[in-house]
Amino acid sequence: MLTVNAYAAPSATEPLVPITIERRDVGAKDVLIAIRYAGICHSDIHTVRGEWGEIAYPQVVGHEIVGEVTEVGSEVTKFAVGQRVGVGCMVNSCRECENCLAGMENYCLKGNTGTYTAVDRDGTITQGGYSTHIVVDEDFVLRVPESIPYADAAPLLCAGVTTYSPLAHWNAGPGRRVAVVGMGGLGHMAVKIAAAMGAEVTVLSQTLSKQEDGLAFGAEHYFATSDPATFSELRNHFDLIINTVSAPLDIDAYLRLLRLDGAMVNVGAPPQALPVHVFTLFGNRRTFAGSSIGSIAETQEMLDFCAEHGIAPETELISADQINDAYERVLSSDVRYRFVIDTATL
Ligand SMILES: [Zn+2]
Ligand SMILES: [Zn+2]
Repeated sequence: MLTVNAYAAPSATEPLVPITIERRDVGAKDVLIAIRYAGICHSDIHTVRGEWGEIAYPQVVGHEIVGEVTEVGSEVTKFAVGQRVGVGCMVNSCRECENCLAGMENYCLKGNTGTYTAVDRDGTITQGGYSTHIVVDEDFVLRVPESIPYADAAPLLCAGVTTYSPLAHWNAGPGRRVAVVGMGGLGHMAVKIAAAMGAEVTVLSQTLSKQEDGLAFGAEHYFATSDPATFSELRNHFDLIINTVSAPLDIDAYLRLLRLDGAMVNVGAPPQALPVHVFTLFGNRRTFAGSSIGSIAETQEMLDFCAEHGIAPETELISADQINDAYERVLSSDVRYRFVIDTATL
């Protein structure tokens, strides 16, 4: 076992504090990663505060991880010591259900093993990326191209693939009108990726305060959802709406913006149920869907796509003692656009 520094939530209501945790011995198929950077995802905050259900404490979160391989198990074939790698939202899956066999481990029918708060194969609770090291089965480790700036790469492992997967699945590309709802950590990546795919991108944000950024990231249009005229002007307009907001919205109002066979896909995860009128779905044969992260193959595809198109998240690098302040700033949308922890400060 390896004892490593980390930052953990001691309870649902207390600030995160420094602790040490144990990482398992490097097994035959395992890779030991020295974590350099860990992104702060909104899910981390929901999770440690118990908003998505009760969890065991102390809990280390973080599922946007990049670092270097420092040791490999005897049967590891995909990675070598020194290589730049990443770990995202899952570290294992059952590998035998129909979804796993189809290469979609994120939809494992027995539930994929999350990078944090999940029961690992050895019975321990998984601990996430706000730590200096992690041991992961090589099948759940990604290659991070060196051309992506190191400190900016981490948020690709959740925010990047969470937006890339539905954009690819619902065919964002030339001739398609794509709206991105919300201009936060997920939203700004959705704009960059959809624009790089060739779609005509529109941002739907509460206000116009981030308009300049949105247009710089590749959006062609930018509308404030606080202005009721937005919803009449854009009626029956979009092929695809990616909703990144993790608070309740008037879903019917957004669905009406879809043209024939358009789809609205939720990647934000509000804890509340969202009411939808079926009559809104009847019009234009609309689809209301959800999408959960992406498979390991899609995550690699996304990393290679971002390297090829020169796309990276916009980040603000912080030290470990700023994590609690960063949480408050995420909750008040005061971040452009993703906090990344320098794990050398843990
Ligand atoms: Zn996340
Ligand atoms: Zn499975």
